Amino acid sequence: MPKTLRLILGDQLNSNHSWFKETDPSVTYLMLEMRQETDYVSHHIQKVVAFFLSMRNFAEQLKSEGHEVNYVKLDQDENTQALDKMIYAMVEEHQFSQFEYQLPDEYRLDQQLKTIAANLSIPCRSVDSEHFLTEREYVKDFFHGKKTFLMESFYQQMRKDFSILMDGKEPTEGKWNFDHENRAALKDKRLLRKAKVHPKPVSDLMEMIKKAEIKTIGKLNEDEFDWPCSREESLEVLDHFCSHLLIHFGDYQDALTTWDPFLFHSRLSFAMNTKMLSPLEVVQKVEAYWKSHQDTIDISQAEGFIRQVIGWREYMRGIYWAKMPDFAELNFFDHQRALPKWFWTGKTKMKCLSHSIGQSLDLAYAHHIQRLMVIGNFALLAGIHPDEVDSWYLGIYIDAIEWVEITNTRGMSQFADGGIVGTKPYVSSANYIKKQGNYCTHCAYDPNKKIGDGACPFNSLYWHFYDGNREKLEKNPRIGMAYRTLEKMKDKDEILKQAEHYLNNLNEL
Ligand code: FAD
Ligand code: SF4
Repeated sequence: MPKTLRLILGDQLNSNHSWFKETDPSVTYLMLEMRQETDYVSHHIQKVVAFFLSMRNFAEQLKSEGHEVNYVKLDQDENTQALDKMIYAMVEEHQFSQFEYQLPDEYRLDQQLKTIAANLSIPCRSVDSEHFLTEREYVKDFFHGKKTFLMESFYQQMRKDFSILMDGKEPTEGKWNFDHENRAALKDKRLLRKAKVHPKPVSDLMEMIKKAEIKTIGKLNEDEFDWPCSREESLEVLDHFCSHLLIHFGDYQDALTTWDPFLFHSRLSFAMNTKMLSPLEVVQKVEAYWKSHQDTIDISQAEGFIRQVIGWREYMRGIYWAKMPDFAELNFFDHQRALPKWFWTGKTKMKCLSHSIGQSLDLAYAHHIQRLMVIGNFALLAGIHPDEVDSWYLGIYIDAIEWVEITNTRGMSQFADGGIVGTKPYVSSANYIKKQGNYCTHCAYDPNKKIGDGACPFNSLYWHFYDGNREKLEKNPRIGMAYRTLEKMKDKDEILKQAEHYLNNLNEL
């Protein structure tokens, strides 16, 4: 009987994939824990544990449904730790007559699998991962001939194509976007709700990772691991989001506070990026929940969330395939500095950064505005090389997979793409951070000072950034105002001097 080997990568845990509709004794599913994947960047310990645990759970689920699964653990003797060697060995040893794989989401793996397929002497076939709403090339074709890829027009198309928040041909309640209602600072702690957690023992996995001497970053107290690592747990997190957090999602989406790490964010990115949940089922559930609770939940909460998933997430994936591999080399501002050492400890006097980085090291999580307007904002103002920024983000977050990390980091956050993803750099002075929450109240620096002792570094770095990049930014119609303000500043020279001082002493901030 002809035998087929099907590869399932660690982020392809889609139990609704058509591969699994029927059991077939001639098909073996191969799942591999590999050093190739643990070592291409230093990952957060919780990320390594979460991937391996989710993969193991998925393999068990497939086995219980009657599928043939060959799961190779990291410490098994036959594990050569490299994808190509493992596949070649399996095909030869078990005499497979066909090899199949789902299209990977990362360029690196896409290239590797193409090479593997070319080297195998049996027929090879790639199939869709059946996760995203669009195909890989959709965004590229959608924006054909345009310099800037406007997310909003893509998002509206997704709403129409998938009938999400639509009344016939019109957007529900007459508007596509309620973003201007989504920017409040959180003033009342009592509004906060507990996150849905799934604590589980992971000491065996931690022991295995330690024994293998895998270099990881961040913290994990063994009885505190609580990321959803199965479809069942992921669905519970989604239910919890709908019933407890959706009510304020949009309102406090941009809030920055020391009170709680998750606020009203869903914590669904890992579950979606590993494909335990599909983006369409997530937004359909959120829409249905909103529809049946319109008396208590405003549309802006649901629309704000849906835009992130079928807008930003889907769009970033399309940008990735439209622009890779060149995207990974872009450095529009030619920034060259190294990250300050405190990115690996959180030990800086700047409260916004010590809190956001500290939280990332503790939980492998920071919400969007911490990633964009605190950490990314600082890295851009400080002129950090985008390679440094990319590998830090790619390592530290539970949900960091290159297609969605690099487009956010190099594109949205660092503007290293010169304006493909965003129309202007996301930078701000202390003003924005102060307005969005309570960080500045607990800080050693003064958000109202630009120069002198204790002046908030964001203030002088902000003007230094604009001054230094005048040629590249002055003609941008969304930025002209900043240059007019800069020119009127009486203390401009002192501000720039203050910034130079901070830039020369980044490790001491
Ligand atoms: P919520 O706030 O609850 O949002 C709901 C969902 O929307 C998320 O789960 C996510 O799937 C999606 N989403 C929201 N914003 C974006 C976005 N900009 N791009 C893509 N999807 C989005 N997201 C990742 O999944 N992996 C990354 O490696 C990653 N790196 C980032 C780096 C930077 C510099 C920035 C600014 C953002 C990054 N994001 C990344 C996007 C976003 O910050 C995370 O998806 C979000 O914080 C995950 O938490 P959550 O599930 O609680 O999100
Ligand atoms: Fe951050 Fe400046 Fe506010 Fe301190 S004062 S928390 S460094 S913005």
